[in-house]
Amino acid sequence: MDHTQKSFLGVRLFVIAALAVAAWAMVFKTGVASSDEAGILLHLPEQVDGWTGVELLFCSSRSCGGQFTAARLENAAVCPRCGAPLDTMTWGERDMLPQDTGLIRKYYTRPGGRDPIHATIVLSGDDRSSIHRPQVCMTAAGHDIIHQRTIRIPLEDSDTPLDIMVLDMARSFTREDGSPAASSTYYAYWFVGRDRETASHVARMFYMAADRILHGISHRWAYIAMSGDRTPDSDAHLQTIADFASRLHPALLKPGRSGNLGSHEQP
Ligand SMILES: [Zn+2]
Repeated sequence: MDHTQKSFLGVRLFVIAALAVAAWAMVFKTGVASSDEAGILLHLPEQVDGWTGVELLFCSSRSCGGQFTAARLENAAVCPRCGAPLDTMTWGERDMLPQDTGLIRKYYTRPGGRDPIHATIVLSGDDRSSIHRPQVCMTAAGHDIIHQRTIRIPLEDSDTPLDIMVLDMARSFTREDGSPAASSTYYAYWFVGRDRETASHVARMFYMAADRILHGISHRWAYIAMSGDRTPDSDAHLQTIADFASRLHPALLKPGRSGNLGSHEQP
């Protein structure tokens, strides 16, 4: 077994261990309290220092699949195409996520439409299953993850940098005229708990298990995701992600909480 395989196995075992601890906590700690406390506000600002964001709404009808910019609609409650209710989630997300999951999303661009970014915040409800390992959803949606790494970006409002997981993705598809095509995109994210931030899904599972066992409490976790197109064989999107996230970060924190809380444990 070479080194890569060994470290992969190590991560796998750690995940299994964390899940086993979490399962144990669920079975034996029936007194675990759910806390409404989240580490951030479920809110995305209209302006992120140079980027302007618009709110997107989605038709709740699966057969329609309409997608609209909220500000351009006369009535933001119903789909102008089919009359079904509009939602901040796509029908697929609504289908998959527990009812009390919070989700907001904005589409940001710099002047001239430069550096477009879809930003999303998902906040878990009472059922903490709303936050999955994003990699699973991406591959299920037909994306190949061709590169995955954590980037560390400095924050102006904190001495502690912020870690963000970046997935470079590629997807092959067939155009309407039958010709083959490929898309290159990225998906970047980090998790925020009541007093912790991490780019690692494994670390988040560990914190959740520790909170249950040691403190008998289960906090609402959120994840912040950014996605957009990238140029194949280029790392230019990493700078865009770093620029955007470092400017968005101060706007996400709850009043009274300041700076990054500095959780950098990696699996
Ligand atoms: Zn519709």
